[in-house]
Amino acid sequence: MRIVMVGSGYVGLVSGACFADFGHDVVCVDKAVEKIEALKKGVIPIFEPGLDALVESNVKAGRLSFTTDLGQAVADADVVFIAVGTPSRRGDGHADLGYVYAAAREIAAAMRGFTVVVTKSTVPVGTGDEVERIIRETNPDADFAVVSNPEFLREGAAIEDFKRPDRIVVGLSDERARGVMTEVYRPLYLNQSPLLFTSRRTSELIKYAANGFLAMKITFINEMADLCERVGADVQDVSRGIGLDGRIGSKFLHAGPGYGGSCFPKDTLALAKTAQDYDSPVRLIETTIAINDNRKRAMGRKVIAAAGGDVRGKKVAVLGLTFKPNTDDMRDSPAIAVVQTLKDAGAIVSGYDPEGMENAKQLMEIEFASGPYQAAEGADVTVLVTEWNELRALDLERLKSVMKTPILVDLRNVYRRPEVEAHGFTYSGVGKVK
Ligand code: NAD
Repeated sequence: MRIVMVGSGYVGLVSGACFADFGHDVVCVDKAVEKIEALKKGVIPIFEPGLDALVESNVKAGRLSFTTDLGQAVADADVVFIAVGTPSRRGDGHADLGYVYAAAREIAAAMRGFTVVVTKSTVPVGTGDEVERIIRETNPDADFAVVSNPEFLREGAAIEDFKRPDRIVVGLSDERARGVMTEVYRPLYLNQSPLLFTSRRTSELIKYAANGFLAMKITFINEMADLCERVGADVQDVSRGIGLDGRIGSKFLHAGPGYGGSCFPKDTLALAKTAQDYDSPVRLIETTIAINDNRKRAMGRKVIAAAGGDVRGKKVAVLGLTFKPNTDDMRDSPAIAVVQTLKDAGAIVSGYDPEGMENAKQLMEIEFASGPYQAAEGADVTVLVTEWNELRALDLERLKSVMKTPILVDLRNVYRRPEVEAHGFTYSGVGKVK
């Protein structure tokens, strides 16, 4: 299959490289000239474990290439994926579909012969209908089918997720497109990843329903964590106690500073907006959004409380800035709100992240340190926000020796209180008092 990926970001680049690895011919297109220039030189513009090797081997094999010239690539393609961003629209929280529609117009003008156009971007119900209308309007003679194929990969484990997905969802009505999509995913299908065919609208909603549910699950355990602190219970034991129930499942039951990242915040918001537009509000999701928004600053206040109620003029070291480990993605990271709350209260903030500091520099003005101990130098409090492996097993003796006062706030519950306290620290985790 000749595949074109329009948009070569976290999703487009990983999907493109994986499709090439399956044996397809893939061209990754992006408007960002510097991104494509970097890729042509073998430089990967994002941090994603294993991606550099995967890109390199498939470029070498002649199956993967990069261009800014969408027209040429699309003219030769059997399948064109749209994998551009769908951020929250400024002002009202609806998904901004401007990039998707612009891509649809460009694709329409360039397509030759029967072409399957697939939205891999996360898009609200009905977007496929509009993409179809735009293509027909731009190129009335075009022979095409519009398909929805949402992506479920997680940054940090994206290649593994793409190659061994729990399921592949494909929404379509055109039987010719069914054959093409089966061919595209045949290598996975053989590995027994279920290929679920639905209508296009159903497929579009499945993605939002999945993200909405996961965001709600995280928010549920976060509220339980707050309750645990009040009643003297331990949220990690509560998680284990409920997660072993097969109907509940243990994943996404880790209490922490609230969900962030490039998907959950914008997708929950877009789902709530769509549901309101259709006069069928999803109140569980609306509440989830409100609870999570409040939680991030509440975590900043938790750090202030751990410092004795006042951080004015005090130094706080923030370890881990990305929204989760193994990515350089800072979009909507809880660290942003935690840092802002601390700065609003007069703290001097230093920070360290293994991969996210370049992106963090665009979003926050703090002292950036070269390592965790450098960040903690002279600090009154150290707070762990993102549980990178490198930050999971800090040398507590060394940490204590560089800090002014040994206070550790662990927003991911990766340390065990008795061990930390044995080193002379004051410790606070999330949802546990002992
Ligand atoms: P991203 O911002 O990393 O990448 C989008 C890319 O599209 C950018 O490089 C941009 O320059 C390019 N682009 C925009 N308009 C273009 C055009 N007309 N032609 C060519 N290139 C164009 O975004 P992302 O994180 O990869 O997300 C893409 C979509 O996938 C979003 O809808 C997102 O919700 C969804 N998604 C993301 C993830 C994730 O973990 N990041 C997971 C599942 C789904």
